[in-house]
Amino acid sequence: MKIILVVLSLFLMSFSYAQQTDCVDFKRVEALIVFNQLAIDSTTYNSYQVHFDMLNPKDSIYLDAVGMKFDHVALNNKAVEFKNDGEKLIIYYDFKKGQSHELSFIFFNAPKKAIYFLGWENEGKNQIWSQGQGKYTSNWLPSIDDVNDKIEFDLKFLAPKDYQVISNGKLKSKIDNTGNVLWDYDMESPMSSYLVAVAVGEYNKKTETSKSGVPLEFYYYPEDSLKVEPTYRYSKRMFDFLEEEIGFAYPWQNYKQVPVHDFLYAGMENTSLTIFSDAFVVDSIGFNDKNYVNVNAHELAHQWFGDLVTAKSGEHHWLQEGFATYYALLAERDISGDDFFYFKLYESVVELGRQDISGSGTSLLDPKSSSLTFYQRGAWVLHALKDKVGNVVFKQAVKNYLEKHQFASVETSDFISEVERLHGRSLSAFVNLWIKQKAFPYDKAFEVLKRQSTFINEYAMVDCEAKSSKCADYLKYYVSDEAKVKVISQVPELVTSAVFKNSLKVRQAISQHVTKIPEALKSDYESLLDDKSYITIEKALYNLWVNFPVERSKYLSKTRNVVGFSDKNVRLLWLVLNLNTPFYQADNKQELYNELVSYTDEKYNADVRINAFQYLDMIKSCDSECKKNLEAAKSHHNWRLVKFAKQLSEQLEQNKN
Ligand SMILES: [Zn+2]
Repeated sequence: MKIILVVLSLFLMSFSYAQQTDCVDFKRVEALIVFNQLAIDSTTYNSYQVHFDMLNPKDSIYLDAVGMKFDHVALNNKAVEFKNDGEKLIIYYDFKKGQSHELSFIFFNAPKKAIYFLGWENEGKNQIWSQGQGKYTSNWLPSIDDVNDKIEFDLKFLAPKDYQVISNGKLKSKIDNTGNVLWDYDMESPMSSYLVAVAVGEYNKKTETSKSGVPLEFYYYPEDSLKVEPTYRYSKRMFDFLEEEIGFAYPWQNYKQVPVHDFLYAGMENTSLTIFSDAFVVDSIGFNDKNYVNVNAHELAHQWFGDLVTAKSGEHHWLQEGFATYYALLAERDISGDDFFYFKLYESVVELGRQDISGSGTSLLDPKSSSLTFYQRGAWVLHALKDKVGNVVFKQAVKNYLEKHQFASVETSDFISEVERLHGRSLSAFVNLWIKQKAFPYDKAFEVLKRQSTFINEYAMVDCEAKSSKCADYLKYYVSDEAKVKVISQVPELVTSAVFKNSLKVRQAISQHVTKIPEALKSDYESLLDDKSYITIEKALYNLWVNFPVERSKYLSKTRNVVGFSDKNVRLLWLVLNLNTPFYQADNKQELYNELVSYTDEKYNADVRINAFQYLDMIKSCDSECKKNLEAAKSHHNWRLVKFAKQLSEQLEQNKN
């Protein structure tokens, strides 16, 4: 049975800003959302309320509300004239300046985007989760699409009792109601509508408290209790660090983090509720290659930069992404050290330089900029600015900026003017160079790094692009792991037995770049299969299988129980290699093939499915079951999977002809 979202609302509101915000101040929304098996348009129940103040006279007001139906629409408890144009609910009335009103209604909808129902028709996990940024919350909840309208949203949800419901703010109460539970969440402060969120599913949670007393809640699937520590490693430490570093107390009542299935992005910084992809739920080995630390810090930093102060328009988007990227990097520096920090900044200089060479660089104020520009160039602006004005001025300016503009929206000049005031000098030359001009100031950035980090100096010096006699020595003596990785990628043939004695990172580079394995290195290379890295194991297994055909049985036996990341990278490779090792008869090949095909089914996450489709295509064995699943993948909510599925089926069609 398809679960349909039936939404009832209890509205109390008052917004501000935007065009109609010159006239209306919506303050607070109270809504009750019912998740159950009711069919659309079936039942009406519940009461509702809306409160707002008129700042100026107007003959109508509106809420954004896509594809909804309304009933019992009333203003101050009296029926009122309204229009539902499918995009907006418009209320007609002779609104006078200074009046306060209460609008109420009931609404129904079956949203097509911005909220997603997963697995309800299948076995496995049942989940509901929302994504408001880029999708508009008004697809499932009447709200305001303009980010400049900040409203206090207090949401209630009715959901079947086996599920947890997690939303913005503090859980006030949870009341059992014959098979269902009523969850009552309370916000104290206003936010933009795109930050409203809910996640519903089967979860356990671990709780901690920050140094400043903020409750932290870490949600996880019941079967993932062993993954809680590696997944959420450093969460509290980073929270405490950011509060201290930003110098402005965390602005919301609590902080919750919830993994969801097949999420559209890595993570989303909904107010007090970060939703992130369950691909980041890792065990202690997965942690070494692909952990949640950076995304965790990034979304947390957004709670200030994005949620507390919000960019007025796309032009100022870097005030969200640049700040979140930079503060995440600072939090990681606290954990992983200076060399890590400078190396990340170095990598982004290289990428930004490449982007400019390819002709796709833009001014940071161009709303059509790439993520690289918004995130990495934005972070670089802050790093260079701090270098120019000094740490003390920079920190105080950030603090002032947040204090002055809290719960409001901002533009670039709001931040720069705070820095200028404390710095005592104009920053217009800086702004032109780093923010406004199209080209990223590559040389200046590199200069800053070289001045700040001997590590980067060394890294830049070690270069075997043009092979020199020194290159073999680099691998023998002390240079950083990063520099060794660079040498291995440039001259893999220089790897000797001794090089295997290095760290996980260097050994991973061997597995990636030494694809022709000399007999003399065979046993060293085989030891890579024991590394605590699923990337290393995957690469090493493949290279060993190719290089030493006689030993294939040995390699397959050794790795038969390794699954890998949540995309099952090692397991899928293992299946394909096994199917292609006819003399290895430890398994029933038909069963292995069936297992491989089963991973294309919709009950697996998008990454597993993409990997499985790719392998089946590679071995030219996409059978009718696989094709059926490929067809179904084309209408998935995850755009990456859809794009992939469309491309592959086109290709299969072409091959047929
Ligand atoms: Zn972000």
